Amino acid sequence: MAREQLSVLIPEDRLQARIRELGAKIRADYGDEPLTVIGVLKGSFIFMADIVRAIGGDVRCEFLGVSSYHGGTRTTGVVRITDDLRNPIEGQHCLVVEDIIDTGLTMDYLLKILAVRGPKSLRTCSLLDKPAHREVDITCDYVGFSIPDEFVVGYGLDLGERYRNLPYIAVYSP
Ligand code: 5GP
Repeated sequence: MAREQLSVLIPEDRLQARIRELGAKIRADYGDEPLTVIGVLKGSFIFMADIVRAIGGDVRCEFLGVSSYHGGTRTTGVVRITDDLRNPIEGQHCLVVEDIIDTGLTMDYLLKILAVRGPKSLRTCSLLDKPAHREVDITCDYVGFSIPDEFVVGYGLDLGERYRNLPYIAVYSP
């Protein structure tokens, strides 16, 4: 294990405290309305599990499989849907949950393909925001942490499928 290449950026207790805050804010904004939360796989799977519990109330969980990186630390700019939603979202309040927004290309693409399916509303939530490399002008409705221009792993985020199971966010330096 190359643990020496990792340095903790956001420890577990700060992550969890912020997720509780975000969840409460989201639930307050939607009131008693049912909410369809769409987790973008694979990176958001751990955040998704925590944020839906923090939101509470009437929540449906859906997943979208997306691939935008191919094992390295740089984006290809190509977004590929590997697994579509299992159910229609027409007439539903939808919240897309991402692990991180970097160039914004993935979220921009997802919002476009979801908007045409007729949701009642469509908002975005990302645990991390890395504004330094933004290529498209998107604003995320709910952001956990804004982070510097570093490649991060842990809490769902990987490097070549490793490190997803770390309970904190760490900077990976090659
Ligand atoms: P975007 O399309 O906004 O450039 O990138 C979105 C996707 O790129 C994220 O869902 C994530 O999979 C990947 N990504 C962007 N930055 C990082 C990073 O620092 N670490 C990891 N592990 N993945 C990243």
